[in-house]
Amino acid sequence: MSWQKRLNASSWRLFPKRSLHTEKAFKRNDNATSKKIARQKRQRQAKQQHQRRQFRQGVSLVSQLHRTIHHFFPQLFDQMRELQDCRKKSTYELAEIITACLAMFIFKSGSRNEFNNMCDDENFEKNYQRLFNLNLPHPDTVDRVMRKLPEDQLTRLKQRMVKTLLSAKTLHKFRFLKKWFVIAVDATGTASYPHQHCEQCLHQTSTKGKTTYFHNVLEAKLLTPNGLAISIATEWIANVGEYDKQDCERKAFIRLAAQLKKTYPRLPICLTADALYPYQGFLETCKNNDWAWIVTFKDGNLSSVWEEVSQLRPLTQGNQRTCHRIEASQSIEQDYLWINHIDYQGHMVNWIECTEIVTPLKTPDEATQTRFVHLSNLEIAYASAPTISQTGRLRWKIENEGFNTQKNQGYALQHKYSRVNWLASKNYYQCLQIAHLINQLLILSTSFQQHLTGKMTIKHLWKRLIGVLTYAEIDAQVLSQQVAINIQIRFA
Ligand SMILES: [Zn+2]
Repeated sequence: MSWQKRLNASSWRLFPKRSLHTEKAFKRNDNATSKKIARQKRQRQAKQQHQRRQFRQGVSLVSQLHRTIHHFFPQLFDQMRELQDCRKKSTYELAEIITACLAMFIFKSGSRNEFNNMCDDENFEKNYQRLFNLNLPHPDTVDRVMRKLPEDQLTRLKQRMVKTLLSAKTLHKFRFLKKWFVIAVDATGTASYPHQHCEQCLHQTSTKGKTTYFHNVLEAKLLTPNGLAISIATEWIANVGEYDKQDCERKAFIRLAAQLKKTYPRLPICLTADALYPYQGFLETCKNNDWAWIVTFKDGNLSSVWEEVSQLRPLTQGNQRTCHRIEASQSIEQDYLWINHIDYQGHMVNWIECTEIVTPLKTPDEATQTRFVHLSNLEIAYASAPTISQTGRLRWKIENEGFNTQKNQGYALQHKYSRVNWLASKNYYQCLQIAHLINQLLILSTSFQQHLTGKMTIKHLWKRLIGVLTYAEIDAQVLSQQVAINIQIRFA
């Protein structure tokens, strides 16, 4: 036997089973390894694809933000340049200062420090310049200007932006009864302090003798059924000079109404407000300004009206309407009842009640019943009853889409952007309102809404937008080209 044959024979003899087994194992291992490599490759490719998708989404959001500003407010930066500059010498033009302040809120930084960290990145700064076509000043430089800039300058800028929207008829399709712009009036707290922060602070002493100091603001916000809540006038509730009684919401309303009439003299306004507002002064103001109004009415308020309602209610068989619809797996039944022409100290008021029963289709025993009651100076008829009641209920949007979003969804309304200077705080407040307006127009557009599929949130999309500005390089030429095209923006 040759040594080769011997070797082969012995090999076969010595390790026949193990050899076969090992070969299979090797094959199996080979298969497993190649499968593992293929799986890892697929995972890598999927991850890269996902990252590319995220990146494209981020780029698209930056481009949509740029388009929103230029589409709705083509004169915005020129209007900033027309504001009265409070400085004698300056490195940055006022438009650059204001834009940086707006950007802090547009990007929802939540604090000056966080915005500072964002700006402290060379790549972010370059992208910022491409996006706004302006230099980026340091947030401390912005703060120094906010401490000096007269309060009315940013208020004027905000009003000019609202007027631009109105004259472009952007909001006309949301008018109530094809005529009225619905404007909600409500107050909210913006800051509170354990010590007296400034001379204008409001203050309250608890039963235990502890005094807190705070600032409240009265807002007039234009509301639309699709969720816009646009600040159109702001009045601070604050103590000025010597006073017997502190300033309050009702006193501030008189000033707010005067401001509204002066700024938008011919705007058909329908005011909506909570149960604090059905009082003589409010009705008088609306009558003098030719405004419509719908206010929440609590049983027992305006005693003469309430008595008349209680007496007439059983006799109003004709003034009724029932509506029924199925919405989001729920059956919604609404029963309307109304009484027109109730006299209240020379004012004709109309009362409407809506009893709503919401029954989940799958669990009918979990039905809930809610009652909504409103007063209005608009005469209620069979056709208009549901719309009038619905518009009265739109008021809650000032609390939700307005105050709640500004406090808890990244704008940090109650954060002390300036701890010591109240003028700066008021200027930051107006910048927040302007930035929120721009963001709302962006978010409610159909092109933005298409990103909100599945479990995607606005908060997450904002992270992508900031991510692109921080880590990528945006193309200024592409941005300026899309302004030239003037693409139509539709609302969802
Ligand atoms: Zn104060």
